[in-house]
Amino acid sequence: MKTKNLRTIIAAVVFGAMAFGLVAGVSTGTLSGFGWDTIAALCPLGALGTMIATKTMIPRAVISLVIMAALVLLVGRAFCAWLCPTTLIYRIRDYFRSPKKRKALAEQKNSEIKAISQQELEGLHAAMGKGAGAKGDAEGGHACGVCGKCQPVKHGKLDSRHGVLAGALLSTAVFGFPVFCLVCPVGLTFATVLVLWRAFSAGDATIGIILIPAMLIIEIVFLRKWCTRFCPLSALMNLVGRFSRTFVPVINDEKCLETAKGASCSKCAEVCEFDINLRHPDFGELTTADCTRCRACVDACPTKAITMPLFAPAKKGTVEVLEPTLEDLEPKLD
Ligand code: SF4
Ligand code: SF4
Repeated sequence: MKTKNLRTIIAAVVFGAMAFGLVAGVSTGTLSGFGWDTIAALCPLGALGTMIATKTMIPRAVISLVIMAALVLLVGRAFCAWLCPTTLIYRIRDYFRSPKKRKALAEQKNSEIKAISQQELEGLHAAMGKGAGAKGDAEGGHACGVCGKCQPVKHGKLDSRHGVLAGALLSTAVFGFPVFCLVCPVGLTFATVLVLWRAFSAGDATIGIILIPAMLIIEIVFLRKWCTRFCPLSALMNLVGRFSRTFVPVINDEKCLETAKGASCSKCAEVCEFDINLRHPDFGELTTADCTRCRACVDACPTKAITMPLFAPAKKGTVEVLEPTLEDLEPKLD
């Protein structure tokens, strides 16, 4: 079975169990936690928000935060790929997209990534006086530093998600309750289940039956990059994930097509749902601090160059990507 399908099944089963616990009131699931009676894992963001709102140290919330930190240190943001209902909804949304739209989006992402890995090749061509690096040529599926399409991403210590996280915590302190929980897509997903269940089982239809699913749909449709640009929970996990050294994907340069053969590949970047470019980290939107251990890159690598060892070896500096000769380039660029 493909890892992607396995992830979908696991996330769907966990979501189903939580949703069942929620509607049946058997304490296996709540809007922000999962467990039985007082033994429940709370959403770490909800836990932090509750302590800020009540200005009290809540032992259960502290334990949840410590457990979250330990898990993120061990397996990074695995929650996002394997359990998060929002990722599951995105996957379902992608499944129902028309084949045409799916193909167009995949082609767009692929051409952007290919443009990046062709950057060195273009530079070489331009240096040979063929003008391939001139503005406008990028439309043909390649780009160079001149056109600005393939500039490296500046990875700051903090990004827009951390801004949302700061806003969520600040608004909690100001208003005295975790405001973000009202718009959190995970909470909205379970709230949708609950209002729909109440409407159909008890005829208890309120305005929430329209508002809650509508908010969820708006977020899913319009905030396509929720996970990489807005999610404060992913920001919280990123703060810990940057110290994680276990099960991080690493490339064996002797097997990688780009470093060993000088060929253009970047399949690992194409399949990463979380916009990490393992081969060219400077060009990915996120870095391995946000790796979800989804294994998509491991499965996609044509030469099996990627592994996820228990402990990632220390980096030995910049990886040298082989530059092909001009003869290698001619068939691709002309
Ligand atoms: S780098 Fe690989 S394992 Fe990590 S999120 Fe991307 S595809 Fe998944
Ligand atoms: S998919 Fe494998 S061969 Fe291709 S760039 Fe990534 S590590 Fe190299």
